[in-house]
Amino acid sequence: MSDADPIPLARPDITDAEIQAVSDVLRSGRLSLGPRLETFERACAARAARTYGIAVNSGTSGLHLCVRALGLGDGDEVITSPFTFIATPNSVLFEGARPVFADIDPDSYNLDPHAIEAAVTPRTKAVLPVEVFGNPAHFAAYERIARDHGLALIEDCCEALGATLDGRAAGSFGDCGVFAFYPNKQITTGEGGMIVTDRQDVRDLCVSTRNQGRATEAWLSHARLGYNYRLSDIAAAIGEVQVSRLDELLEKRRMAARLYDDALGPMEEIHLPPMHDRATASWFVYVIRLADHYTQADRDAVLDALRGRGIGCSNYFVPCHTQPYLQELLGTQPGDFPVTERIAARTIALPFFGTLTPEQVARVRDALGNALVALR
Ligand SMILES: *Cc1c(COP(=O)(O)O)cnc(C)c1O
Repeated sequence: MSDADPIPLARPDITDAEIQAVSDVLRSGRLSLGPRLETFERACAARAARTYGIAVNSGTSGLHLCVRALGLGDGDEVITSPFTFIATPNSVLFEGARPVFADIDPDSYNLDPHAIEAAVTPRTKAVLPVEVFGNPAHFAAYERIARDHGLALIEDCCEALGATLDGRAAGSFGDCGVFAFYPNKQITTGEGGMIVTDRQDVRDLCVSTRNQGRATEAWLSHARLGYNYRLSDIAAAIGEVQVSRLDELLEKRRMAARLYDDALGPMEEIHLPPMHDRATASWFVYVIRLADHYTQADRDAVLDALRGRGIGCSNYFVPCHTQPYLQELLGTQPGDFPVTERIAARTIALPFFGTLTPEQVARVRDALGNALVALR
């Protein structure tokens, strides 16, 4: 077995078409707020079955603008998952609102609808669920809870572009959703994000706040506090080509997931990713979980062993409520969300991208098997 070639955790899929598109923009002289932005926005809105797409410079910016557009602020509680990327709770904190965590469902790793209901208080104003690892689940329940309690619903679908749940697209639930385009995501613009919504008021506010709070009519007329969260036309051009290739990219990732499912399925010490539906999920990462008799230290030893063999891997995610600054800010602590903690202590994200080869998968399987034997 050769350990000579490292296997990265993620790798973008860029072709000559993306390179040509960037080069066209550079030659055109219109590097920002040009025609590529609108084409890219329309394409993403269509993939989410939404009326509007609003491109921004990151998924985090998109979440922030949604929280702001929905008027969430001081004293408002937003129920969200502790098993997510830190940008999710941060986007709530940017506006002075309070992220209130609720535990996850162990069978999907997404927010448990019962836990959401138990966390609702008179101060709750919104729910911010996450389709973690590209696995949509429970969205009908989230919509019902939002309706019953009169709450806003923001979908953090940053990991789920192209997924469907019971025939509905990720990004089509609730008031608005946000996709992200960092290079490890299903499609990339280098850095970037996209808000999708059917609400024209949300769309108009986000178009203004991503661009210094400009009134739409006059460039130097500023109607409100805003930011520079614009996406360049260079990035939008990459995104336009990438989203036109989305079906191809998702199919390649589905095949890579199938290689892992076949190779790792027989290993009794691990759980495969708990996808609601392997055919309609959008595979963002491939995250396995060690059986419950392993400890977090065991998991960390496996991560070290894999890295020692040049295999990229990561502990997605450290529960948000145990991050020191959030413990200080919110008063949360280890022990608060036992399902999240039991799962997060044992997860391993394996190398995952559409061009993963059977040989690479075999190398990961062998290294994983050896690491588990070494723990006995
Ligand atoms: C990627 C991601 C984001 C946004 O990340 P950016 O790096 O700001 O684009 C937000 N939430 C989740 C769950 C993500 O995975």
